[in-house]
Order: sequence, then C-alpha cells, then structure tokens
Amino acid sequence: MASYFDEHDCEPLNDGEQPNHLLHMARLLLDSGLAAEWDIEYGRVFGRDNVPPASKKVVENLPTSVISNSEAALERKCPVCIANFDLDEEVKQLPCQHKFHTDCILPWLAKVNSCPLCRYELPTDDEDYENFKKHKARAKQREYELENLHNSMFG
Ligand SMILES: [Zn+2]
Ligand SMILES: [Zn+2]
Repeated sequence: MASYFDEHDCEPLNDGEQPNHLLHMARLLLDSGLAAEWDIEYGRVFGRDNVPPASKKVVENLPTSVISNSEAALERKCPVCIANFDLDEEVKQLPCQHKFHTDCILPWLAKVNSCPLCRYELPTDDEDYENFKKHKARAKQREYELENLHNSMFG
C-alpha cells in the first residue's frame, strides 16, 4: 500500500519533527487556484453595479417600528430622503437596525439587496447570487487561513 508520503514525494516526519508548513501552504494555494477557475466558469459576474434585489419574502417580513419621542427629539433622518422622521411615524427597520421610510426603502430593496447606509446584505431570491456569496465567504476563510499560516511561519 502506497503511503501518503510516497504519493506526495516527500520525506516522512521524524519523531518530534514539526509538520511541513510549506506543503500545507502549497495545498492551500492550490485550493485557491481552483477557486479562481471556478469564478471564470461561473458565467455571471456580480459586482457593485450588478446585484439582485432583496428577497421579496424578506422585504415583506421586515419589522415595522414607530419613531419614539427620543428618536424624534434627536432629529433622526431617513438616510434615503434626508427628511427628519416625525414622532409616531411608522418606519421599516432592517436587520442592521437602520430605519427608513417605507416608501423610501421598498423601492430601494426592489433593486438592491443591501442597506443604503451600511451595505448590510439581505438574502435574495437569486440562487446564483446566493451561491456566489457562499463562494466568496469560503474564499475569505481561505485568505484568513493563509494569513494565519503566514503569521505562524514568519510572525
Ligand atoms: Zn425617507
Ligand atoms: Zn444598515
């Protein structure tokens, strides 16, 4: 039976020897390379100017909140139209806690899936985009692993 080390053409570790970080790094780099090819195969490119709208279901279920005394006193503004909120005015609240006039945020979310203020992303109904997001998250994790590895080797 061929061992892992025969297949990979490298020396087995002696007792007490540390695992080969370079080999590990090479494997991570190879993984990233494969990920880049997957991007090219993707067919659709998503960027700042090309994002799907927020999921209709999520938008329908956004909580409504009422502007409180203190919020009105602080002259909180709707970030979309820059008008002050009135006391007792009903507004929509995104998961990032930012509040907007219903009439201001609904047309926005029909075009874009993120908060106009902080870019917090809402789920979408676009399967391709959701897969793309998962892929991006994995790529980020890999970047983080590489950085940690780099720090453990050279830090
Ligand atoms: Zn507004
Ligand atoms: Zn926000």
